[in-house]
Amino acid sequence: MAKIQMTTPLVEMDGDEMTRILWQMIKDELILPYVDLKSEYYDLGLEHRNETDDRVTRESAEATLKYGVAVKCATITPNAARMTEYNLKEMWKSPNGTIRAILDGTVFRAPIVVKGIEPCVKNWEKPITLARHAYGDVYKNTEIKVPGAGKAELVFTGEDGTQIRELIHDFTGAGIIQGIHNTDKSITSFAHACFKYALDTKQDLWFATKDTISKKYDHNFKDIFNDIYEAEYAKKFEEAGIEYFYTLIDDAVARVMKAKGGFIWACKNYDGDVMSDMVSSAFGSLAMMTSVLVSPTGVYEYEAAHGTVQRHYYKHLKGEETSTNSVATIFAWTGALRKRGELDGLSDLEKFADKLERATIKTIEDGKMTKDLELITSLKDVTVLNSGNFIKAIRETFDAM
Ligand code: NAP
Ligand code: MG
Repeated sequence: MAKIQMTTPLVEMDGDEMTRILWQMIKDELILPYVDLKSEYYDLGLEHRNETDDRVTRESAEATLKYGVAVKCATITPNAARMTEYNLKEMWKSPNGTIRAILDGTVFRAPIVVKGIEPCVKNWEKPITLARHAYGDVYKNTEIKVPGAGKAELVFTGEDGTQIRELIHDFTGAGIIQGIHNTDKSITSFAHACFKYALDTKQDLWFATKDTISKKYDHNFKDIFNDIYEAEYAKKFEEAGIEYFYTLIDDAVARVMKAKGGFIWACKNYDGDVMSDMVSSAFGSLAMMTSVLVSPTGVYEYEAAHGTVQRHYYKHLKGEETSTNSVATIFAWTGALRKRGELDGLSDLEKFADKLERATIKTIEDGKMTKDLELITSLKDVTVLNSGNFIKAIRETFDAM
């Protein structure tokens, strides 16, 4: 059979440790036999980042801006132990942080739903996608531990010297204060990314803040979302048959627990941090969670939500067998290939991505899976496969379909 042709290259960002091993296996078994892969390859493995003074990371992000779609393998974020292990010149920054700063995006995370891996919340029939604002608030705060009685004030000094001043609290004894901020620019980008992604995936969009209590800060988020929606998206949402729904954060949490799923939940930075861990653990496993960074200009970077699975890699290096789950990394590839197909009008490529996803899910539903899933599945008589054989089993399912 002739291989599927591509027109525009996909930006391929290779990574580290166990996921780097899976990366090659996925390409060899599941992509290259079927697709005449056009990719611009960037090696984001830590050794090469170190050799290039991390230039490769920035170049890969710039290539993503140029071509529009990237697929990324998990990468090591260096810490003190990695400095020695890899003999690094510097403690290079998190590649994801660097890429996010260049693409200016919002991260969407969605669970891969499979029969036999049931969410703890019984009524969740469809995935819930979490969209987390990744700038500001408590993650860029300034704090003071107040030693004793005194007056705390919030002061803004404009470029022309004019000041706005508000009393925070008249302390009669020791306490704490915190200063946080956000920018209209960042909130606007976040809103566009959410509305675009909702249209793209034809799902309702929920957004929630605590605007009844935070009448300026949170209210600003609500207003920016609302103004952008009315001006640019209301009509498109109506045409797509989807809805934008704003409510209070506590009401949203209560409703999510009763919902069937199948929507995008946009969260402020802290809410997104907390709720994405709740949603992902309730759905089963980090290894079954996809992640895509979407920029406000419509550039996409697909990856798995988990890390490089270091513990499994050290076993692999010792020649021991591993059973590492490659599903989220496979879905990073299918997500990127489908988007490439969509942008370039290549329906064969889109169909290939859909089929590879179905084959992956069917393999698990047929009882063939990795160890992490065997521990949580409700299926009986399952076969636990090693890392390589699981990927081969998916290929067999794919070929039989
Ligand atoms: P991790 O790679 O996510 O793995 C943590 C544990 O979760 C594993 O030891 C394993 O549990 C389980 N797990 C995760 N993914 C799995 C998979 N695909 N199949 C089976 N089990 C899986 O996190 P980490 O070990 O804390 O971090 C390792 C490195 O990844 C770090 O250097 C960190 O900087 C990096 N990291 C990168 C990204 C990214 O690139 N996006 C994200 C997070 C972390 P068991 O050991 O119990 O089997
Ligand atoms: Mg967290």
